[in-house]
Amino acid sequence: MDNTVKQTEHRFKGIPASQGIAIGNAFVLRTEAFVFSNEHIEPERIPEEITRFHTALESSAAELQQIIAIAEKEASHVAPILETYLLILTDETASDSIRRRIQRGFYSAESAVMQEFDAQKQFFTLAKDPILRERAVELDHVRDRLLNGLRNRSVSHAEAENSIIVAPSITPTDLMMFNQVGALAFVTEVGGIASHASILARSFSIPAVIGVRNIAQTIHSDDLIIIDGNAGLIIINPKPETLAKYQKRKLDTEENKRKLGKLVTEKSETLDKHSVHLLANIDSIEDVAAAQDVGAEGIGLIRSEYLIIQRQHFPTEEEQLDWYNEIAERMYPCHVTIRAFDVGSDKYAEGLPHEDNPALGVRGIRFLLHRKDIFKLQIKAVLCASKYRNVRLMLPMIATVDELLETKEFIEKCKASLRKSKIPFDERMPLGMMIETPAAALMALNFAPHADFFSIGTNDLTQYTLAADRTNEYVADIFDPFHPAVLRLMKTAIDAAKAFHIPVGICGEIAGHAAATELLIGLGVDELSVSPPLLLELKKRIRKSEFLKAQTLATMALRANSGSEVRKILANRKKK
Ligand code: PEP
Ligand code: MG
Repeated sequence: MDNTVKQTEHRFKGIPASQGIAIGNAFVLRTEAFVFSNEHIEPERIPEEITRFHTALESSAAELQQIIAIAEKEASHVAPILETYLLILTDETASDSIRRRIQRGFYSAESAVMQEFDAQKQFFTLAKDPILRERAVELDHVRDRLLNGLRNRSVSHAEAENSIIVAPSITPTDLMMFNQVGALAFVTEVGGIASHASILARSFSIPAVIGVRNIAQTIHSDDLIIIDGNAGLIIINPKPETLAKYQKRKLDTEENKRKLGKLVTEKSETLDKHSVHLLANIDSIEDVAAAQDVGAEGIGLIRSEYLIIQRQHFPTEEEQLDWYNEIAERMYPCHVTIRAFDVGSDKYAEGLPHEDNPALGVRGIRFLLHRKDIFKLQIKAVLCASKYRNVRLMLPMIATVDELLETKEFIEKCKASLRKSKIPFDERMPLGMMIETPAAALMALNFAPHADFFSIGTNDLTQYTLAADRTNEYVADIFDPFHPAVLRLMKTAIDAAKAFHIPVGICGEIAGHAAATELLIGLGVDELSVSPPLLLELKKRIRKSEFLKAQTLATMALRANSGSEVRKILANRKKK
């Protein structure tokens, strides 16, 4: 244990998974290693062990059912994830096997549970399909729930009231329960920004920082900590001046939020009347209301792959249509941009071989063109939802013009089949593409004649330009969307869009970054798409900017030598 951490301020950098600032005492959840996989019992204890197992199973299932009921009311998109846990927990075959291990192998209930789950997990860990591999993590969570039940130990959620949860990893169920009792923020050692826990944290608007190695060993319960979910920073035992700074920032944010409400109906334009359209990035139907509350002019990005994550399977055409229709109807007459499934890499994929470099593998459009059976269902569902004429389709991970042309041809076939069946759709539904590979940015002039709009995905554009994995905490300092290399690629794409008179927006995280607004306006974007909680703050910054000055600033940033030089230019500008 590192006692020095107790006295002095320490900072740790992780991956920002959900925005916001939290200040509070830590509540450290250390998942204990269960070490009784070979614990034998005397034969006379068999009935007692079987009863213990059943009691633990029943209480865990009842608890889970309660949590699902809460999820259905408060976060309906999470309920299917939790239902998967319940299915694993109540699987008859597994229960039979555990009972047999107790009866015939003379193992304790804990050992029998461990052995059964280990055996199942082995199969899933080795699976090539990432969905199945994810199942191994779910098995761990369910196993731990059962083992906790057997030891009469449950995570005491209530104790975490007003605390910051620090844990090696966190299950969606625990996260939901902690949210219920008013947990302030989350820090985990593992996890990606697309993990279930991160998705949940964002939808509950709770700050979260993930991927901080050994943090659950470093922080002690009751340590005072600050979580900066915007910067991905954890500050342990802050100095009085640090604490004061963050307390002020937190108060300012809250005060700001109250004041920002007034901006909902104001125009999104600079002081010199240059308009920038403000759109929302959403992952679920629930987010539509949040987008409308802040006056989003449309939806700039629906990450449709979240539908797969929620359902745990590729949704049918009907399931998709219901989802797209509901979003399009609720947003009408504002437009909604449905991005085709961006699966592969760190997101879900089905039926794909294991890849050593998945971010450079069969991801996004590559997957879709490889699995046209899946792509066809999605295109048809999106086309059907386009009947109100407020739907746009967007393609992820485009790197070659051929991919775009092949997709267009395929969409024409889908349209022909709908026409044949006399199903109405928008014949002129706009088709756009993400600019998120350096190839797409560099070749933007070649893409522009074939696309109806561009949307720059700075998250991937940064990872591919700087060769820094966006989910790897070890290269988080290299992953810098302010790097001039990334900015120059963005500028190339924006200029190409202008040359062909097609709209160009940004839907990557930089769009909501406080320091970036003037720079992005100056680069010439038409649209910025951000998660709803960031939108009004962004509008406020736009309304304080001047287009002409922003252009000068962008020119300076484009000439800089490094990301830090760009940040300096922007910071100096702010002081003036
Ligand atoms: C991006 O890459 O910037 C983007 C918006 O897409 P995603 O984060 O879903 O990959
Ligand atoms: Mg992307």
